[in-house]
Amino acid sequence: MNPCALCILLLGSFFPPALCITTADPALFINGIPYSTRSYWMRRANKALQDVTRSLCPFAAFGTAIVNHTYAQGLGDLICIGANQNGQTGNPSLHGEIAAIANCTAILTDPKGRFRLTPSEAQAAFADLTLYTNAESCPMCASAIRWAGFREYVYGTSIDTLICKGWGQIRIASVDVFRASFDLPSRTRLMGGVLANETDPYFLWQYDPTYPCPRGCSRSPDGMSS
Ligand SMILES: [Zn+2]
Repeated sequence: MNPCALCILLLGSFFPPALCITTADPALFINGIPYSTRSYWMRRANKALQDVTRSLCPFAAFGTAIVNHTYAQGLGDLICIGANQNGQTGNPSLHGEIAAIANCTAILTDPKGRFRLTPSEAQAAFADLTLYTNAESCPMCASAIRWAGFREYVYGTSIDTLICKGWGQIRIASVDVFRASFDLPSRTRLMGGVLANETDPYFLWQYDPTYPCPRGCSRSPDGMSS
C-alpha cells in the first residue's frame, strides 16, 4: 500500500471523518471560466518563479498569479504576481501568496498606477480577484486569502502531495481553513488540483535524488537544482 494512503487510513481511525474534503473536478467550467483559462494562469503562476527569483527551478518553488476575471473579456486581467522570497529577503512569512497580496495592494493603490484606489477601495477590490497558486496554500496563506476576501482561490499541487514528497508542512488543509472562516463576511470559491500534472514536478525533485530536475535545470553537486 502507498505509505501516504496508509497514513490517511490510520488518521481516519483516530479522528472523526471530515464532512467532505473533495473539491470539484478542476476541468469543470466553474464561474463561467474554462479549464483552458485556468491552465493558462496556473502556468503564469509557475512562470512567476522565474520572474521573481531569476531561476527556472528555485528550491522553494511556490509561485502565484492574481487575476481579475470579472471585467475583462477572454483570459482576464493579470493584476500582479508573487513568489516565495523567504531566502531572498530573510522574511520567513513572505510566501508566494503573501508576496503577491502585498504586490497587488501596492499596484492597486499606486497613485500613478492603473487603478489609483484608496486603501478601502483596494481592500474591497479583492472580492473581484482570483488567486492562482501552483501549490495549495499553507494555513497562514489560506487565512490571508480568506481575510482578503478573494472571489476565487485556485491551487495546483496539494498539501498531501507536498507532505508525501518530503516537504515540512503545517497539516491543515485549505478546506479546513475555509470551513473555519464562516464568520467572515466574504465567500471564496476554492478549486484544487488545477494543472497538477504540470505543477507537481516543481516540488518533487527537492527531496528525491532520483527525480529529474524541472525542465531547463540540472542537479548540482550539492543536490540542489540550478
Ligand atoms: Zn504559505
